[in-house]
Amino acid sequence: MNNDIRTNIESILNRIACACDRAGRSQNEVQLLLATKTVSEARILMALNAGCTLIAENRVQELKEKHHALSAIAHTRHFIGHLQTNKVKELLKYDVACLQSLDRLELAQKLDERLATAGRTMDVLIQVNTSNEKSKFGVQPKRALELVNDVAQLKQLKIRGLMTIGVFSSDAHQVRQCFRLLKSLQETIRQAGIQGVVMKELSMGMSGDLEIAVEEGATIVRVGTAVFGKRTTEDSYYWNENK
Ligand SMILES: *Cc1c(COP(=O)(O)O)cnc(C)c1O
Repeated sequence: MNNDIRTNIESILNRIACACDRAGRSQNEVQLLLATKTVSEARILMALNAGCTLIAENRVQELKEKHHALSAIAHTRHFIGHLQTNKVKELLKYDVACLQSLDRLELAQKLDERLATAGRTMDVLIQVNTSNEKSKFGVQPKRALELVNDVAQLKQLKIRGLMTIGVFSSDAHQVRQCFRLLKSLQETIRQAGIQGVVMKELSMGMSGDLEIAVEEGATIVRVGTAVFGKRTTEDSYYWNENK
């Protein structure tokens, strides 16, 4: 792992470009999002200075801690972590453009309520648990359409697509199946023609599997480790309900 953030970003963009080539896609169709959990403000600023414009946190606490320092450089912020309903009010303080991890109606309703009070809307992606692992959040695939239907009734939420975390496996075929499932759900939901629902974004692929995701239609890949290096905090800290 190279320590130089700029070099790492270049190499990620190159990986994305190669995967796009293989898939016959344009590189412009895929956005790089930097997953910045555990990463210091100083290092995130280096990435923003290197030209990245899209970042995301997993915890409201980290959004809060880094918010001030990061406001020095214009960028777009998404949220990709499990969001407890009682953190919604706090989340809205930090100018998050898109909640990628919307996975239940109760959360959507609370968010909609708070946004209505604030007189604003928010883009959301529906997070789907395509790997069927208990440790991961996300609506079950067979319930995704139903959730989209329900969330579409909420006026302040703008559904822009789907998000998933692929299975952690060295078996590329299994990983690919997760991404294919997300893509097929996108098609199913599109065909349902639900008013106000835009099925444009597919947020899938991370440091280890972004090529497969791009080949399967990702429009946003979320990369942390390959840019910032290995994290000392276990991901289970972010991905388990009980932590
Ligand atoms: C941490 C995280 C990523 C990035 O993972 P890396 O393997 O470090 O690239 C992507 N998506 C989510 C939801 C994450 O929590």
